[in-house]
Amino acid sequence: MRRKLVIGNWKMHGSLEANHALISGLAKALERLSEADKTQVVICPVSVHLAAAAQQLNGLPGQIGLGAQNVSHAASGAYTGEVAASMLAEAGVTLVLVGHSERRELFGEGDALVADKVAAVLDAGMTPVLCVGESLAQRQTGETESVVLRQLNAAVQRVGVEGIARSIVAYEPIWAIGTGETATPEQAQEVHEALRKRLAELDEDLAANTPILYGGSVKASNADALFAQPDIDGGLVGGASLDAEEFSAICASSARSGASA
Ligand code: PEP
Repeated sequence: MRRKLVIGNWKMHGSLEANHALISGLAKALERLSEADKTQVVICPVSVHLAAAAQQLNGLPGQIGLGAQNVSHAASGAYTGEVAASMLAEAGVTLVLVGHSERRELFGEGDALVADKVAAVLDAGMTPVLCVGESLAQRQTGETESVVLRQLNAAVQRVGVEGIARSIVAYEPIWAIGTGETATPEQAQEVHEALRKRLAELDEDLAANTPILYGGSVKASNADALFAQPDIDGGLVGGASLDAEEFSAICASSARSGASA
């Protein structure tokens, strides 16, 4: 049975004080949900806030997990400004976003580097969330499937079926990230199905058990329809995760969905 989860990507927003308040607000909002509406929730604050967030989360009831937005491909060494996976784990992180389109587009991260980062996260005993997705131009020229499969295959080649079995995949069409434009449930399902089919070619159990999240302008108002799709197992949420009530409503949608087989 696949796990359902919702991840909040806070990007480079907030401040120590604002993010402390956001965690408190989110914990309260999630506490108010009925048992049937509870799902696994992970937040990804900016890296310098991780230790403070970990300390705060430890003192709270409920089960909000801690994730990071990026990681170095290297285990240690002369990499000024980078943070190693083992350091994130020490800070209390259990999950790391890898290959987010903003990293690929703004910081020039290619498939090989992203695959090395997936390996680094696994080596440190954490869960990589491999983000894949096409640009608007690629969608318009019919390249969506080949782009996301190329991105997935690069990670498969690097860490094998065993590594992907300890990973999460997130389909995030670049044209839907932070734009307010969401993929229709049918468009998202089509790509999720293609990704799962590729996993099934490698191993049936891998396909059955790997969570594939959707990300791209998920809101409380569209979450039910997206999460109702058979191959969508939850969400990777940017903007809407900065509002505790909105985000907890999205988490409740994920819990209620019949997504996981
Ligand atoms: C993201 O940053 O991963 C994301 C999906 O952002 P948004 O929800 O704001 O589109």
